[in-house]
Amino acid sequence: MELDYSAEEEEFRARLRHWLGTELPKLPARPDPLDWPARRAYDCGWQRRLYDAGYGHVHWDGSPTRRLIFLEETERAGAPYVGAGFVGLLHAGPTIAAEGTPEQRERWLEPVLRGDAVWCQGFSEPEAGSDLASLRTRAVRDGDAYVVTGHKIWTSHAEIADWCELLVRTDPDAPKHRGISWLAMPMDAPGITVRPLRTLAGTAEFAEVFLDEVRVPVANRVGAENDGWRVTLVTLSFERGTAFVGEVVACRRVLGELARTARKNGRWDDPVLRRRLGRLGAEFQALWRLIQWNVSEAAATGAVPGTGGSVFKLSYSHARQELYDAAAAVLGPDALDLGREWPRDRLSSLSYTIAAGTSQIQRNIVAERVLGLPKGR
Ligand SMILES: Cc1cc2nc3c(=O)[nH]c(=O)nc-3n(C[C@H](O)[C@H](O)[C@H](O)COP(=O)(O)OP(=O)(O)OC[C@H]3O[C@@H](n4cnc5c(N)ncnc54)[C@H](O)[C@@H]3O)c2cc1C
Repeated sequence: MELDYSAEEEEFRARLRHWLGTELPKLPARPDPLDWPARRAYDCGWQRRLYDAGYGHVHWDGSPTRRLIFLEETERAGAPYVGAGFVGLLHAGPTIAAEGTPEQRERWLEPVLRGDAVWCQGFSEPEAGSDLASLRTRAVRDGDAYVVTGHKIWTSHAEIADWCELLVRTDPDAPKHRGISWLAMPMDAPGITVRPLRTLAGTAEFAEVFLDEVRVPVANRVGAENDGWRVTLVTLSFERGTAFVGEVVACRRVLGELARTARKNGRWDDPVLRRRLGRLGAEFQALWRLIQWNVSEAAATGAVPGTGGSVFKLSYSHARQELYDAAAAVLGPDALDLGREWPRDRLSSLSYTIAAGTSQIQRNIVAERVLGLPKGR
């Protein structure tokens, strides 16, 4: 398997590096991390610049290898990452690209790529997280619309989103995996109430979403009625398989900064800490190689990533937590200062083994679908 980049890909890298060098100095200062509307404007503005320069499609609609080069170069240059565009660019968009009709692709994909539309994900419910197919939000057909009533939770970016990829139960009598549909719900529809939830890190990045007889056109259904579980597996395979890839590059940068900080503040003399950072370096290097391997596999076999993404998600989310534990060791008492980036990132790293499917669930998937072990009870 070829893991090196070709001359043509290296030429893409050089062009991108040059463009970033001229474009980044023009960017306004990053907004306050607690100001979500300002963060939306900033992230969408950056996506628009990428789009205008021909890089807007890079996350799903082009060569996967170019995407890796894009991630390496943007991180190296300190460019913003997808931010508020996370769901639209990294899993709702790719799902519509794979499963939507030509009209749906035309209607929803360009606004995401242009930075004009922000999406959120309305999958989880109070009693349907890991067991997602137990969801109870009902959609009853009324003419050319579904009337949706229910309660979603942990909906990241709900307050600033224009659209929601929403799972609803369209047949309450069918077996639980068979009565689900995947809808695109406009977040300004009457009957939607968004109630923010505050995290340990102090941000209100996700919310509860209450749905009271919200009318969603039948034309907004992606996939057939009651076939939403199959579409959901496509979304989850992007969410677990490729959505976090860019963050591995960011973790490699943080690791480099940690080593430099440790040298400056004297902690580098501690051999246990040095060994810890060295082991993390090896782990992130291995994860990057795993990504390259997954990408070459996906390029060879088709557009939708396979269950190998669960292997990646499982290892990555634990490595990220270890990285920020190491950051706390490097910072010492300063690790308690929530005004600083690493301490805040440390708290949010705790969520990585839960969000997008917990580690226990990923282990079940790896055991059953990757290793072919017998299904648990
Ligand atoms: C930061 C963050 C952002 C999120 N953003 C979104 C979002 O935008 N949209 C959205 O829809 N959801 C979102 N989620 C929700 C997330 O996907 C769920 O929290 C997750 O799937 C777990 O579901 P739960 O919280 O209901 O836990 P539960 O399902 O109640 O699980 C509790 C514990 O039991 C374990 N467990 C459950 N079943 C099994 C089993 N069969 N085998 C072994 N262990 C099991 C779980 O692993 C977990 O440790 C987000 C979560 C976080 C933390």
